[in-house]
Parts: sequence; structure tokens; C-alpha cells
Amino acid sequence: MRLRNKPWAEEKLKKYPQFVVPDPEKWRGHWQALFGNSNPLHIEIGTGKGRFISEMAEQHPEINFLGIEKQPSVIVSALDKLIEKNRPNVKLLNADGAKLREFFAKGDVERIYLNFSDPWPKKRHEKRRLTYRTFLQLYEDILADGGEIHLKTDNQGLFEYSLQSFSEYGLLLKNISLDLHRSDFSGNVMTEYEEKFSAQGQRIYRCEAKYLN
Ligand code: SAM
Repeated sequence: MRLRNKPWAEEKLKKYPQFVVPDPEKWRGHWQALFGNSNPLHIEIGTGKGRFISEMAEQHPEINFLGIEKQPSVIVSALDKLIEKNRPNVKLLNADGAKLREFFAKGDVERIYLNFSDPWPKKRHEKRRLTYRTFLQLYEDILADGGEIHLKTDNQGLFEYSLQSFSEYGLLLKNISLDLHRSDFSGNVMTEYEEKFSAQGQRIYRCEAKYLN
């Protein structure tokens, strides 16, 4: 994500606590109280400018969504979309996904979306990939039994790595697509990166990985 410096971003995020959760630790173990219902919670790590999470929330009012993004200058664009749509079932968290255990107890989350995560292609950066085994352990610690990761990427290397990492961890792989936009998958919601890369003719890879507890 190319960063345009927005020194005012953090101040703006603080002005909208109804959309940008200021105190995620407080809701650990009872996120349903924050949303005011008992619907399942789906989170996206690296939500970027928020197109996916805001459109998913519109299409699925029966699900609560939380978009997690560490860059204030980026998540502020996601906030603009939430302000415009003003939906009760989607919120944002300006935080590092590596800290998920501080925010969620076991079972708080039913699904994790990883969309166009940074590929970190160098071997010495493997541990930073969001599908490295320590992240898979982290996700297991917050997901409900049978919880799932849904991954999309344009990066063949990250995709192949992730399939292997999921498989070695013992996850069940489902609905693998090597060319999502030319597959029979219905209900795809595009992200900003997906739109950009597919317009350039890149194919999009997708898979689902399920924890078998
Ligand atoms: N998902 C969006 C899309 O598809 O348009 C954005 C993709 S962009 C390549 C990756 C995003 O993930 C960046 O905005 C980056 O700041 C964010 N990110 C990377 N690692 C993260 C982490 N550990 N926690 C939260 N956000 C992260």
C-alpha cells in the first residue's frame, strides 16, 4: 500500500469511536455486546481502504464485521466509507494484527479474511507473512471451533506458500481457485487491490482453510 502521509489521520480516527473501536481490549470475550446482537464476527486483517469490509457488511447484515488495519493514513479512507454508509454491523480497528490475542478470546471470531496481504517474498521475511505458522497458531487461539480463513491474492508465490503452510498446519483446504474471476464462484466482493490487479490482467487466487477442532 503506497502511503500518502496524512498527519491528521489519527485525530480523525479518534473522532469516530462508533466506527473505529478505541478500546478493543475492553471487548475481549464479548464483542457481541459491542455490536448489540449475537451474530457471528468476521474480521479482515490488513483491511486497507475498506471497500471489501464495507460492501460485505452491506450484503450480509446477519454478520458483524471488523476491519483491522495498522496504517492510520490508510484506514482513514475505510472510515470515510463507513461514515457514508452508516451501517451498524461493521467497525474498524487501527491496530497490528499480530496483537489479536490482546483483543479476542478463543471463540470470539468465526472467520478471518486475508485479502492481498503483503507477500514478503524474501525467505528471511517468511515470519512476517500472515500465513506463517505462528500466525496460524494466533488465528487458532481466537477462532471458534471449525473457524475459517478465506484468502485472496494476486501473488502466486504467497498463494502456493499459504496452501502449503495451511496444509502442514493440518487445516482443511476448500474451494481453491487459481483464477477466481473466471471461475464459477459467486458472491465475490472485490477489494481495492483486486480491482487494480485484475484490471492489469493478473489472475486472482483464492482459497478457504478450515480448522478441524
Ligand atoms: N486488503 C486491502 C486490499 O486488498 O485492497 C489492502 C491490501 S495491502 C497490500 C495490505 C494492507 O495490509 C496494508 O494496508 C498494510 O498496512 C496492512 N497490513 C499489513 N500487515 C498488517 C498487520 N500485521 N496488521 C494490520 N494491517 C496490516
